Amino acid sequence: MLAIVRVVFGVVLALVLSGHALAADTVARDFPPGLVVPDAAKSGADFDVDKATEAYLALLTPEQRELSDAYFEGGYWLQLWGFLYGVVVAAILLHTRLSRGMRDIGRRFSRRPWVQTLIYALLWVLIGFVLYLPIDIYVGFVREHQYGLATQAFGGWFGDQLKELLVSVILLPPVIAMLYAAVRRAGDRWWVWASGGAFVLILFVLLLAPVFIDPLFNDYKPLREGAAREAVLSLARANQIPTDNVVEFDASRQTTRISANVSGFLGTTRVALNDNLLEKTSLPEIKAVMGHEMGHYVLNHAFRLTVYLSLVIAFAFWFVHRTMNWALARWGARLGLEGRTDPAALPLAVVIFSFFFLLATPLTNSITRQAEAEADAFGLDAAAEPNGFAMAAMRLSTYRKLRPGPLEEIIFYDHPSGYDRVHGSMIWLKEHPPAPGSSTAPALAQP
Ligand SMILES: [Zn+2]
Repeated sequence: MLAIVRVVFGVVLALVLSGHALAADTVARDFPPGLVVPDAAKSGADFDVDKATEAYLALLTPEQRELSDAYFEGGYWLQLWGFLYGVVVAAILLHTRLSRGMRDIGRRFSRRPWVQTLIYALLWVLIGFVLYLPIDIYVGFVREHQYGLATQAFGGWFGDQLKELLVSVILLPPVIAMLYAAVRRAGDRWWVWASGGAFVLILFVLLLAPVFIDPLFNDYKPLREGAAREAVLSLARANQIPTDNVVEFDASRQTTRISANVSGFLGTTRVALNDNLLEKTSLPEIKAVMGHEMGHYVLNHAFRLTVYLSLVIAFAFWFVHRTMNWALARWGARLGLEGRTDPAALPLAVVIFSFFFLLATPLTNSITRQAEAEADAFGLDAAAEPNGFAMAAMRLSTYRKLRPGPLEEIIFYDHPSGYDRVHGSMIWLKEHPPAPGSSTAPALAQP
């Protein structure tokens, strides 16, 4: 097992070094603020969708594109290394008796199985935090700085990690205790109960996150006065979105990325813009991005994606159920595990669960990518800012590979690629030529 540990740490070290060779300090990764409309993308009699698309794509210099590809393709490998790292963590917990020791501590405290599981899960969250720290530091801190995407010093970043740990300490142990209660009571049908529980839990977290979790990491306040506010509120009114909950937050604390989101559920729904979007982009870009976000709201994506994700989780639990029986028969006795109701076997179950999700990556990415493509189409119609959307897509392409192959897109992309988004915007522009007498504003299609 030491050999595996050496290989994984060797790989992490190699990643750190290779990432450094490509460090962003020599290339300006980001675009300067403001909307650039290439000549070929200005509508006119000779407007050509493919030429306009290529003109937008050419906004990225070859060096910027190389940097973006390296960052994004490195992410593919990180999914695999992340899984293998998890296998090593599980091996450490199971082989060193750490896992059994945590279970025995639980038994010393209480005779009730659910209290024992609660204590085991609490220790598992804490020890897992420590064991995952090396890869978390590399992925979340070192690598983000290498590519010019992070803004936090280590202290601030680590403080955020501790807050995340606090959230996990509060939320995860009860969830794991309930999961094991289902395993004890429902027998071979535990995975059905657990899937139902997962559905309720996801809705619950969606409901609570905007109110209790997000404000731990960033300041949320009403969207600042100005043209952007007027435009966003007008777009919200036009699409029947409650306008009293449109806010901005200081994402620049952590990152240079632009983003916005619609979060929450039922009464806690909130449309949020990050300050990078407000400060680094132009009004047409802001409108285009918000049109997309409002698409998520109007098309009810939060609920729909929860249903889809719960179905995938049901498959995952079923897979864990079948594989655990086999794995316990094979290794259970040697590792001192007493069966599937034994919390000490949790690291084994987690490895099987993550293996399923690694294999299901093309499926889960395709589910979200489909919703994102719908929101793109909605946003183009709602905001009528095709150049703004193309420009925003190009900004995102400074750290997402601009033009993947078809299979690569299916497997790894949870959003349409920059190419697809620019191309889609240019198709929209062609089909909505400017109104007579106007130089820029496209005429809206008649219903
Ligand atoms: Zn989206």
